[in-house]
Amino acid sequence: MSPKSANVVVIGGGVLGTSAAFHLAEAGQDDVLLIDRGPIASATTPQAAGQTGYLNVDRFARKFGMYCIEFFENFEQRTGHAIDFRQCGSLRVALTEPFQADLEARHKAAQQLGHAVEFLSRSQAQELVPTFDPPEDCRILLIPRDGYVEPKSVAVAFAAAAKDRGVAIETRVEATGLQINGGCVTGVATRQGTIQARSVVLAAGAWTRQFGQRIGLNLRTVPVRHQAFVTGPLAGVLPRQPIVRITEPQIYVRQEAAGLLVGGYGYRPLSFDMDEFDATFEIRSLAADPVYYQQLHAAATTFFPSLGDAVVIQERRGLPTISPDGRLIISEPGGLRGLVVLSACGVGGIDRSPGAGRLAAEIVSGGQPWIDPAVLSADRFGDQYATDGSLRARCEEIYAHHYHEVY
Ligand SMILES: Cc1cc2nc3c(=O)[nH]c(=O)nc-3n(C[C@H](O)[C@H](O)[C@H](O)COP(=O)(O)OP(=O)(O)OC[C@H]3O[C@@H](n4cnc5c(N)ncnc54)[C@H](O)[C@@H]3O)c2cc1C
Repeated sequence: MSPKSANVVVIGGGVLGTSAAFHLAEAGQDDVLLIDRGPIASATTPQAAGQTGYLNVDRFARKFGMYCIEFFENFEQRTGHAIDFRQCGSLRVALTEPFQADLEARHKAAQQLGHAVEFLSRSQAQELVPTFDPPEDCRILLIPRDGYVEPKSVAVAFAAAAKDRGVAIETRVEATGLQINGGCVTGVATRQGTIQARSVVLAAGAWTRQFGQRIGLNLRTVPVRHQAFVTGPLAGVLPRQPIVRITEPQIYVRQEAAGLLVGGYGYRPLSFDMDEFDATFEIRSLAADPVYYQQLHAAATTFFPSLGDAVVIQERRGLPTISPDGRLIISEPGGLRGLVVLSACGVGGIDRSPGAGRLAAEIVSGGQPWIDPAVLSADRFGDQYATDGSLRARCEEIYAHHYHEVY
């Protein structure tokens, strides 16, 4: 049975909500309650590939990314709970001139940070990733600090660390609305009754826009389907080989249980209005787009020939949320005090969870945020993308060019 009141209620126990709960406790907030309509980490979070990638050309994203990568590197010290962060590095591969220029810019940015990234020859790359067949004229940048985690373990560890610090966690509690008085949030309506609250963090993943609509907010965050697959064991796959990210076909390939995990962007992007699903819908029953899988498989086989006759042993898919500029939304929406929206993490919510949770906690606590919160404001789109049609079209487009423009 949920408490009848809390200082702060976090709605959603995915990787973003659990990180927010942890960071709220770390920021000294007492009486924090995290609720989820299902178990912790049961929606899109466990479907992820769990990859991290901090090295961005955009200064804001780089600062944000640095907090995240340092957090992952010190996760157990920070939280008291271990995660299996495999810091195997990544190879970022560009086939054509414009994207090779982007690699140069990343190389320069890394040098400014004093980080040891380096360009590799094809044969050096193949030594690290024997199943990879890089094309003749490509350029390959090795980024050693990248890696991946088992995604569910991150949310589980954040939740455990939050609980250690006094956060209450209630599962099977669904928020149905907010109680609002004079433009201020005063509580969360649930199927079990109202929980009085001074502040609320809305981290409801794919359901965030729908929840906002119920309380009169037009949040510019849309769930877009993302798919990946895992093969059975393949000869030549090494346990600690770097992730391979190829810019033009927008694919990523990493080791998973001696096979390969393959995902990619731009293959038949499709957004959803969560009202299209019934109230009992769960992410794990999201229908596959088989053509997306076929196109992804074909694209990846060009660079990883042994994928051609590999056996697929697992499909992953879910609904990460996307905003019209590809950036997160972490802010109080205009005109409503006490609500902090935490959404639009793109296909990067695991990676960005430490920084996202930290900023949400800082906004709730009223301190000086460590980054400029205006960049992630819910109100930054003004009147743009105000209709469902224009918003969904734009977010599908952003998703379709994730490696080309945003990442
Ligand atoms: C195939 C695939 C590969 C990916 N690869 C990567 C990757 O390599 N790296 C990376 O960083 N990211 C990756 N992602 C993206 C990542 O999974 C998401 O960005 C992240 O998990 C989103 O977390 P979340 O907390 O916003 O949402 P979710 O995990 O969906 O959590 C939202 C929670 O809110 C709860 N909820 C919803 N409505 C309510 C309500 N009304 N009341 C109470 N609770 C509610 C839900 O039950 C759910 O538990 C990938 C995603 C997919 C699908």
